[in-house]
Amino acid sequence: MCGIVGYIGHREAYPIVIKGLKRLEYRGYDSAGVMVYDGTSVKLSKTKGKVSDLEAKAKEITTTGTIGIGHTRWATHGVPNDVNSHPHVSNSGDLVIIHNGIIENYEPLKKELIKRGYKFHSDTDTEVLVNLIEEVQKKENLKLGKAVQVALNQVVGAYAICVFDKKKPDEIVAARLGSPLAIGVGKDEFFVASDASPFIEYTSNAIYLEDEEMAVVRLNKPLKIRKIKDDSLVDPYVQELQMNLEQIEKGGYDHFMLKEIYEQPSVIKDTYRGRLHANEGLIQMAGVEDNLEKFLNADRILIVACGTSWHAGLVAEYIFEEFTRIPVEVEYASEFRYRNPIINPGDVVIPISQSGETADTLAAIKLAKEKGAFVFGVCNVVGSSISRETHAGAYTHAGPEIGVASTKAFTTQITVLTMIALRLAKAKGTLSNSDFHRYLQELEIIPEKVQEALETNDVTKTIAAKFKDSTNCLYLGRGYNFPVALEGALKLKEISYIHAEGYPAAEMKHGPIALIDEHMPVIVIAPKQGHYDKVVSNIQEIKSRSGKIIAVVTKGDTQVRELADYVIEIPDTSDALSPLLTTIPLQLLSYHIAVMRGCNVDQPRNLAKSVTVE
Ligand code: GLU
Repeated sequence: MCGIVGYIGHREAYPIVIKGLKRLEYRGYDSAGVMVYDGTSVKLSKTKGKVSDLEAKAKEITTTGTIGIGHTRWATHGVPNDVNSHPHVSNSGDLVIIHNGIIENYEPLKKELIKRGYKFHSDTDTEVLVNLIEEVQKKENLKLGKAVQVALNQVVGAYAICVFDKKKPDEIVAARLGSPLAIGVGKDEFFVASDASPFIEYTSNAIYLEDEEMAVVRLNKPLKIRKIKDDSLVDPYVQELQMNLEQIEKGGYDHFMLKEIYEQPSVIKDTYRGRLHANEGLIQMAGVEDNLEKFLNADRILIVACGTSWHAGLVAEYIFEEFTRIPVEVEYASEFRYRNPIINPGDVVIPISQSGETADTLAAIKLAKEKGAFVFGVCNVVGSSISRETHAGAYTHAGPEIGVASTKAFTTQITVLTMIALRLAKAKGTLSNSDFHRYLQELEIIPEKVQEALETNDVTKTIAAKFKDSTNCLYLGRGYNFPVALEGALKLKEISYIHAEGYPAAEMKHGPIALIDEHMPVIVIAPKQGHYDKVVSNIQEIKSRSGKIIAVVTKGDTQVRELADYVIEIPDTSDALSPLLTTIPLQLLSYHIAVMRGCNVDQPRNLAKSVTVE
């Protein structure tokens, strides 16, 4: 994963790189490092830990200079320590590299380089790459750009890299395959970064490198982009960025996660703005309209995703099958790509990913395309790899999600998928006219209900205080709220490190009920619509075994209130739309528990936001 930043221009590079790394820390925070070229020599500082640790350490070096690169790491090869941190320097000391990705064939390459006299100091695959570039450069007497190109043609794996050569200190060479890379184009200056956030306040012009492209970013020279494979020149496509600085700052909240939880009413509106016209009884999504026939003729819809997006996919499975009667399967992208799945040209494949860069999901897309399926992407990041690799798609328009634990991405994904299902149901006639109109009206007012659901903050905080020291937790739900139980458990696991599991409530008796005792908090999602009576019976079963029950119920509920130890009330809505509300208190509960346990909510241990490695 990792975040990379590079700068070449007329400003001081160090503060730009450091600020940029802080914005990219969501991508990994095992270690951080920076290199600045001060006009005569390379100054380098790197350390295990966060960018703030790097700042403290970098005080030991001169950090003035107008060329710099920096890295924040999510370790894949070698433990997170100072030596394995990036940047890595070639044996001669001339070449400096930062890398996001994995060089899969690093071992044979390393052996070969060792034979030729190269010494390695770290355990990383990245150090192999920088020395390979050096070897090529020396052997064939090549300029940096050419040497990078020749070397990259020998590697297998994924990368986004920036390489600097002390012998030619007016350029940075950038390249990508499988990991994202954006180039910010300013006036007499360039920025290179894993996403556009590090340069948003300097320029709104960006070029997103495509896979297998490289760029030589040179001071006072036009940018040249080439294909790594055949050296052909590519016309740079400069995009106008849509994000702004305010969107990527905390805006008064203690954590990005909390800010993003609270943004949900407005971002759900952003998701359906211009697409949902409740009064006219219309859903208009360009990607769907242009490909309506493909959807309507689909034998099957296959949803592929990972993590929280996979949970959104599960909610969508229930919605699509109920509304459209098209059979749906939901797959983990990582399993799908490696199990020789049956994909037919009549299938519609919907990959879901917040970042649009998830490596496994991208690989699943490639596979689906090879097999002739129509691939319709759902992602948040505009211009991301998924948006480019798919035949068509719909953005969630949730704005940048910085907290590593996904919140608004989940609810906006469900919103987009619900709209698609409604549009298809309308065309297929699988929903009655009155139901169709009722769902449209309900979806339109869901942001207000989400706002109301956010008012459970105080009660969830009180409940969090009671259960913050738990070591285990169960989440139960049925129907549309079974995936919400999975998502609730995932949220708690990832940010508070409490072991949690989600189950369909009725599955309890097939095993998990053995875990229930007076120390086990059980969070039951029990809204009035849906399988309410069945869930009430499940609650009885837990109560009989002394489990502690925290129930998410519809406002005014009395039956569950009598049984549960704690209740959290949310507004009423239809069964199918209830995940958009029931998930809110579960997000808040995890958040408060994690804060009370002193966990780093926005950057939980071992995780990174954008999983660009397999
Ligand atoms: N493979 C490199 C390392 O371990 C980069 C890691 C990454 O991008 O996740 O340092």
